[in-house]
Amino acid sequence: MNKIIYCPICKNTTRLDSSNQHRPFCSDRCRLIDLGKWVDEKYGIADASTVDDEQTHPEIH
Ligand SMILES: [Zn+2]
Repeated sequence: MNKIIYCPICKNTTRLDSSNQHRPFCSDRCRLIDLGKWVDEKYGIADASTVDDEQTHPEIH
């Protein structure tokens, strides 16, 4: 019997049985996203702003 559930992260349908290693998530990516949220709460990381990488491009004339 296949149980269809909704992934708590991306809301896609996924299966809640042994064939889905990442249940109750649809994929490893969603599982990691949820884990990341949990870690953020634990350590109280409020600043989620991303750092601009390679913002400066030195131009040589
Ligand atoms: Zn998902």
